[in-house]
Amino acid sequence: MGANASRSVAIIGGGIGGLSAALAFARTGADVTVYEQAAAITEVGAGLQITPNGARALNALGLESVLDAAGLPAVAVIPSDALTGRMIARFDLTRQHPVYRFLHRADLIGLLARACAEHGVQIVLNARIAAVAADGSFDAGAGRVSPSLTVGADGLHSVLRPVLNGADAPFFTGQVAWRAMIPADPSDPVARIWMAPGRHVVTYPLPGKRLNIVAVQERETWAAEGWHHADDPANLRAAFADCAPVLRDMLAQVETTKLWGLFRHPVADHWHGAQTAILGDAAHPTLPFLAQGANLAIEDAYVLAMTCDKADDLGTALQAYQSARRPRVARAIAAANANARNYHLSGLQRMIAHTGLKTLGKLAPDAFINRLGWLYDHDVTASFV
Ligand SMILES: Cc1cc2nc3c(=O)[nH]c(=O)nc-3n(C[C@H](O)[C@H](O)[C@H](O)COP(=O)(O)OP(=O)(O)OC[C@H]3O[C@@H](n4cnc5c(N)ncnc54)[C@H](O)[C@@H]3O)c2cc1C
Repeated sequence: MGANASRSVAIIGGGIGGLSAALAFARTGADVTVYEQAAAITEVGAGLQITPNGARALNALGLESVLDAAGLPAVAVIPSDALTGRMIARFDLTRQHPVYRFLHRADLIGLLARACAEHGVQIVLNARIAAVAADGSFDAGAGRVSPSLTVGADGLHSVLRPVLNGADAPFFTGQVAWRAMIPADPSDPVARIWMAPGRHVVTYPLPGKRLNIVAVQERETWAAEGWHHADDPANLRAAFADCAPVLRDMLAQVETTKLWGLFRHPVADHWHGAQTAILGDAAHPTLPFLAQGANLAIEDAYVLAMTCDKADDLGTALQAYQSARRPRVARAIAAANANARNYHLSGLQRMIAHTGLKTLGKLAPDAFINRLGWLYDHDVTASFV
């Protein structure tokens, strides 16, 4: 038994990051309680790409066989010209190991919640934590709790992040995004990136014969940050009205959609105090242009629990956690930010970029994915075997 066996761990937030951390701590013997503000552990209806780096951590948490049953294995990523509908290149994903998967967010949350219950994690619902003190203690509704470690896995509007870092200064990126789902049963489980000047759409299938759609458009102004602003699907269709029929036909099937403003936040400088730590979006909100927000949250969760288990001294463990995670996360976030620019090119730059992609697809079809080797091949579990 490692050091976690004598620890009580409180996790604020029962999202993908919080539940992954709860499971990882519970599997190493900690006494774990999750405090979730919502009335149930559920997720918004949307898809998620779990890349091999995230899958390695989930597999190490014992979820490999259930993930196989819940996810669709992705076979390729296909950059396409949204204006003509033509495929630019096809980059193979079938040699990725573990498998690159398309999942429904609610399915992943369900798997994690079930595994947490099997490992004795207590989940307290309707528990919005208003504030956390610097020593990690907080009012949990039924009284004040002072766990050995308090983990802020409470997302974009974390209550713990400002305690460790002061107020954040997010800025509007000049982009908004819609997400939607339509019925579909594609024979080819591929992620398509439909690129147009100032806009792009990502589509991929999900189990249950659905197609997940995320569409991004450049805009000058936006008011509030958040994922849950309902919007008229007509606005989504209007933004892509000059695109190819194949894309317009998909958008024509959208019945309901949510719109959100994309904001950039700095990666937190301080990820821990003496008895506190933050992970996932609480430490590093990520733009959805590399499909890594949840994957990085899962990696954080695994590394945090394992570094704590290895060291009797919590302070040493928390420092090791930040040192292991911050540089990698900062690199991934910079890569996601750059993708937005690359997808939205216009004029000559667009022509040159598309020609380059096409040539790469023909001459070196693995090059595109190999360039992401630092991301997908990384194994957070390797230091803990
Ligand atoms: C459209 C879209 C597509 C995406 N696609 C991908 C993808 O393909 N792959 C990928 O890896 N990532 C993707 N992401 C990013 C990913 O969803 C997030 O980075 C990830 O969900 C972060 O997980 P988290 O647990 O840190 O935070 P969250 O998912 O935000 O969870 C935080 C939890 O804390 C709870 N909470 C918040 N405050 C409190 C409080 N004070 N007290 C108690 N509970 C609280 C919330 O209710 C919530 O349950 C996508 C994001 C979007 C918007």
